[in-house]
Amino acid sequence: MSLRVHHLNCGSLCPVGGRLLTGQGSLLERGLMVCHCLLIETSEGLVLVDTGFGTADIADPKGKLGGAFVAISAPRCLPSETALEQVKRLGFSPDDVRHLLVTHLDLDHAGGLADFPRAQVHVHEKEHRAAMAPTWRESQRYKAHQWAHHPHWSLYTEGSGEPWFGFPCARQLRGLPPEILSIPLHGHSRGHAAIAVETPGGWLLHAGDAYFFRGEIHEQEPPCPGGLRVFQSLVEIDHQQRIANQQRLRELSRAHGSQVRIFCAHDPVELERLQH
Ligand SMILES: [Zn+2]
Repeated sequence: MSLRVHHLNCGSLCPVGGRLLTGQGSLLERGLMVCHCLLIETSEGLVLVDTGFGTADIADPKGKLGGAFVAISAPRCLPSETALEQVKRLGFSPDDVRHLLVTHLDLDHAGGLADFPRAQVHVHEKEHRAAMAPTWRESQRYKAHQWAHHPHWSLYTEGSGEPWFGFPCARQLRGLPPEILSIPLHGHSRGHAAIAVETPGGWLLHAGDAYFFRGEIHEQEPPCPGGLRVFQSLVEIDHQQRIANQQRLRELSRAHGSQVRIFCAHDPVELERLQH
């Protein structure tokens, strides 16, 4: 079965310091960052890749996401942007969503978990361990209420896997068709992974937060604004791994850009191009 993919924005962030983050506008203008998620129609039901913010988060952003996060990133908190509402708008039932694949468990990626409580949640074991027992620094990024409903976790460890376009350990996911793979890209967080999806038009690679701006990976694009570079360094968990993975993504784009469409979670231009 060939997979049908919908590109969704499941959360908009409007942080201060526009030009430092987007390369456009003034410093005082607010930037725009999206939460690029995929809804995939498969023979095993609907699969959601990343989940953005959930209904509980947007009902009480300061309480659920934290006052500092809300002040700095200014999430728009529109009910219409939740994955739950968009699934319904596309004519599906929330129960049709059987699998949630999260690149990592940061608060802007795992918010929708609770809106699909019966779905199986696929994530790297290292990421799960980090989120369940965060250090003080990590406690800012992981929000326990997002998995307080005790989801059915499906965890993946290091070591096994098949090569995929030069990446050594692409993993098939339990109960999912072979066109969907998880590719470890640790660094931004302890168990961060990308998700690859084979479609009739070629491969898609959702690189999550392995990078934040299209110019970091795609050479023909403008360079990453300075503020966004600094931000990534501030939130990274392993600098060397993160930089090495960006280099591998650049090589993938250069060598196989016509076969693999690479995009990250938060670049609004990448999302817009893929939606049209
Ligand atoms: Zn993120």
